Amino acid sequence: MAEINLSISGRKAQSLNLVQKLGAIIGLVAIGIILITWGGLTFKNNVLWLSLLLSCIFIGAIVYTIGTYKGKTAGIKNDGVFHRSHTSRGVVGWAAGIVFTAFYIFLYWYPEYLGYASGVEGTNQGLVALFDPLSMFFKGKPASQWFVYGTLYTAIIISLGIKFIVKYRNNRYQVTRTIVVIVSQLFLAYLIPEILAGMNYNDAVDASGQYLGWYDTDIKNVWPLDYDFFYNWHMDAMQAPAYQPLGMTYLVWGIFLFAIGTPIITYYVGKRWYCSWVCGCGGLAETAGDSYRQLSSKKLSAWKFERWIINLVLVFVSIMTLATLYGYFMNTNSLFGLDIYAYFQKPYGFIIGAAFSGVIGVGFYPILGNRVWCRFGCPMAGYMGLIQRFKSRFRITTNGGQCISCGNCSTYCEQGIDVRAYAQKGQNIVRSSCVGCGVCSSVCPRGVLKLENGPEEGRFGNEGPIVLGNDGFKLDQ
Ligand code: SF4
Ligand code: SF4
Repeated sequence: MAEINLSISGRKAQSLNLVQKLGAIIGLVAIGIILITWGGLTFKNNVLWLSLLLSCIFIGAIVYTIGTYKGKTAGIKNDGVFHRSHTSRGVVGWAAGIVFTAFYIFLYWYPEYLGYASGVEGTNQGLVALFDPLSMFFKGKPASQWFVYGTLYTAIIISLGIKFIVKYRNNRYQVTRTIVVIVSQLFLAYLIPEILAGMNYNDAVDASGQYLGWYDTDIKNVWPLDYDFFYNWHMDAMQAPAYQPLGMTYLVWGIFLFAIGTPIITYYVGKRWYCSWVCGCGGLAETAGDSYRQLSSKKLSAWKFERWIINLVLVFVSIMTLATLYGYFMNTNSLFGLDIYAYFQKPYGFIIGAAFSGVIGVGFYPILGNRVWCRFGCPMAGYMGLIQRFKSRFRITTNGGQCISCGNCSTYCEQGIDVRAYAQKGQNIVRSSCVGCGVCSSVCPRGVLKLENGPEEGRFGNEGPIVLGNDGFKLDQ
């Protein structure tokens, strides 16, 4: 079978079998529809083309999965991952990274170039107009760029989640976890909020035609990840009489989940309950990003950088939110003479909310790995990471005597944790950044690693935690 060299370094790309090629071609049809509508083409029959697009995403992923895993014994196979251009920072990987990044830049700052025209039905063009029929079905109004994004996001998590389940089918933890990821995204993040919006539960006008504002109805989107939860417009909308009792329920639930629910659950099972089971960012990282998990940096310098940056983001969002609450309760727009929007909310929204979480966090999957945002930038991950590190029952235990130092665990740890270093010492892994995806354990050929919840005493094993010091990687006595 002819092989095509698509790699920067001159390595030969792994050739695809016939079924994989068929799946890839179907997937390329979906990508083609997105690109030509993004380029400005508006179809006359959007129902037909949208149906074709969504069908191609699902069928392409399923056919590719069949071609990859049919007839093979169960067991995780990452064959050729460092020889494929798109999974080893080759030409295809860079091209994908550039396209993803460009998409996020347009999504956040130039939605008009995706075809978005806020207004009445029929004024959207291109890519956004393509999704008008589905938006009309749910909400009775044309699509926005965020509806396009949410629909594609959900379709990708479901289709590549199915691929993930087949790949990891011998592992009950991975299968169960991924089903929960898919269900969370489909129902909590997509269908329920869209259906509620269709019922005007969070998108209504009052009797005089005054728009009452919008509030987030995704019950798992919690502060500090949902950084605008306490913004004036969001607080007002949740308390608007027309939105009761649901609005106040979301307000109380959001505060409860952040202040009480999250610490308690994280204490018992670690941050994995959120990062690897229900979070949308984690959901995309685990499914669409699975092919890129080996690209996360394992360097000590990356670990040092990670500790600084994620905690600084947590401080940043806390200060911004305190300023916001001060303004809300004191009925003022400024704090210490500084405009709260211009000096606190806008910089956070631009730098962290958009550039870091979207443009870098997902756009750079093929270059920096699938958890750049979760590892370096997510304040929710930072918040739970502190609990996980200092007050939690979660740990990964290692049966060091069985370790053959193959390095699979470190290679496929998406958070860049050098799992092998712990395994070689027989040291428990207690790290704030571990999202409990369990892939290190799944790819270990010797059954060395086990994700466990147990008593806090002895959580670090006999030797105490491994920490970073000025002398590098050492045991903390
Ligand atoms: S240490 Fe294991 S469970 Fe934790 S993030 Fe890395 S691969 Fe996932
Ligand atoms: S994958 Fe298992 S055997 Fe290989 S280095 Fe890691 S713990 Fe050791």
